Amino acid sequence: MGIWDIPGMKPGVITGEVAWALLEYAKKEKFAIPAFNCTSSSTVIAVLEAGKKINSPVMIQWSEGGSAFMAGKSMDNKNKQASILGAVAGAQFTRAVAAAYGIPVILHSDHCAKKLLPWFDGMLKADKEHFDLTGEPLFSSHMLDLSEEPDDENLAICAEYFAKMVPMNLILEMEIGITGGIEDGVDNSAVSNDKLYTTPETVYSVHEKLAPIGKMFTIAAAFGNVHGVYKPGNVKLRPELLHDYQKYAGEKTGKEMPLMLVFHGGSGSLPEEIESGVKAGVVKMNVDTDTQWAYWEGVLKFYKKYEGYLQGQIGNPDGEDKPNKDKYDPRKWVRESEVSMCDRVVLQCEMLKNKNTLA
Ligand SMILES: [Zn+2]
Repeated sequence: MGIWDIPGMKPGVITGEVAWALLEYAKKEKFAIPAFNCTSSSTVIAVLEAGKKINSPVMIQWSEGGSAFMAGKSMDNKNKQASILGAVAGAQFTRAVAAAYGIPVILHSDHCAKKLLPWFDGMLKADKEHFDLTGEPLFSSHMLDLSEEPDDENLAICAEYFAKMVPMNLILEMEIGITGGIEDGVDNSAVSNDKLYTTPETVYSVHEKLAPIGKMFTIAAAFGNVHGVYKPGNVKLRPELLHDYQKYAGEKTGKEMPLMLVFHGGSGSLPEEIESGVKAGVVKMNVDTDTQWAYWEGVLKFYKKYEGYLQGQIGNPDGEDKPNKDKYDPRKWVRESEVSMCDRVVLQCEMLKNKNTLA
């Protein structure tokens, strides 16, 4: 049995049981699907192009800041209206083009802290409208990240939201313990080290709280992961903890590897660390920092190659009256970013063994 044999599987955005079955399949077959943070139609295209190239499903996700960027930086965002609008616009753009790339796509929203809940509420409203119209939500899944709050409050808020999401067949990703580093304006670089490693008991408490509400939830637990790429420091990634989570939850539930785990802050991780995570039931891995660099590097290389052609509209090394339009047209240099990001997406999929998984 392959991915296309999953009932309801199709090219384009998938949701509900179909999306969940894909994650279950990935867990069983020991690969993970990377989720790439997107901020524009251009970055979405880079991810879709890569998915098509390696004939594998991909995930596209929007952070709160990335969503606001999608709507436009000039827009007022006091009540998260730009973030809501941008997330909806990003989701609709992805839905409009994804099927044409011939691969299944999971559409997700990234970290949502307590103060960003109005953004989450806005996306759920859009999901409901889409659900009433078509029978499926706009997004496939959303992440709640209340990890800065006490564990009890984190679980209570997750349970409350999950109960609203279940009737729309939305998947919930939640975070317990803290991913270190800095991302999307959230600075966890000063968090104490014990918060950076979640215990098996705490991870199981999430399962206990959410499983009675619905089955479609994933857990981003902290095992020393850090957002961003830094020089090797004193925070050490401990993927063996993920195995401990599964073992503990397995003993409690009587099911083998019952948890669906998500790997955050994996930029700069060693291949063996990633492999160990996937073996422990990681089905999704977030990628932002490394593709940000790749997108920039595309322009950087283009600029270095054509520097003499990019100093004015007219005049270059071939002659002082020669026009440079064919170099400064955004389609030229933005495309270089897309190609560079696409290559990085392919590499990430390969690291997670998500290559030719649609074959
Ligand atoms: Zn994250």
